[in-house]
Amino acid sequence: MVEQELSGKICVVTGAGRGIGKAIAISLAKIGGHIICVSKSEESCGASAQDIRDQGYSAEHMAVDVSSAESVSAACKNILDKYSAADILINNAGITRDNLMLKMSQLEWQEVLDTNLNSCFYWTKNLLHPMMKKRWGRIINMASIVGLIGNFGQANYAAAKAGIIGFTKSIAREVASRGITANAVAPGFIRTDMTSKLSENIVAELLKNIPMKELGTPEDVAETVKFLCSHGAKYVTGHVINVDGGMVM
Ligand code: NAP
Repeated sequence: MVEQELSGKICVVTGAGRGIGKAIAISLAKIGGHIICVSKSEESCGASAQDIRDQGYSAEHMAVDVSSAESVSAACKNILDKYSAADILINNAGITRDNLMLKMSQLEWQEVLDTNLNSCFYWTKNLLHPMMKKRWGRIINMASIVGLIGNFGQANYAAAKAGIIGFTKSIAREVASRGITANAVAPGFIRTDMTSKLSENIVAELLKNIPMKELGTPEDVAETVKFLCSHGAKYVTGHVINVDGGMVM
């Protein structure tokens, strides 16, 4: 078998059941990583892992609610018992609960913060120490351009994504001397289930502000993540890379 860039690397990808996370899981598997596909429902992460194996690559799945500290902790214990460390952690799972600030409930705020931001803390907290001992690692957190510029009806989501950026830059500084990089990727508008609810009118409005005049694909985001996971990206840390067709420059 040909040695590939990520051969022997254990890659945890959250939100791998659909959309961007699934595209990331497939792209890392294709370059040799063993992918642990995590999502909320057993059905979706199981199907992603099966898809990857059907294509001849290596994957398993774990249904984990990433918003629960206890569930993430138990999942990480299983991973560490089996593999002693994860090499690559992609914190990608996320949700939206959009509402105008005047109408936003505490539950809508809390669910978005727990799923998008607190989950990054839980996974990183559990997997960082063994990664530091290996003196090699890649942490990539999925932000959003909304975390940079805000968005109407998304105070909760923008706060979570901006929080992810600060979190990423801080841990990048803490682990840089241990061969670990930490970066954030900030997609613009990507065609997935998350954006499928947008009406054609809203999409038409959005396109006016996208110089490339089209929405992105999950694969566009996955290619950037793949680069950040590569050995070639070893000197890139603490950054936010926008994948947004030029929307925010
Ligand atoms: P998506 O199609 O809605 O998929 C979300 C994935 O996250 C699913 O696999 C889902 O699991 C998982 N997930 C949600 N809540 C979870 C929980 N509590 N525990 C475990 N897994 C959970 O979303 P997407 O569009 O691919 O977005 C992926 C990431 O990119 C998110 O962080 C999102 O904020 C970010 N992003 C997306 C866009 C965009 O335009 N699409 C733009 C900027 C940023 P199940 O499959 O089990 O439901």
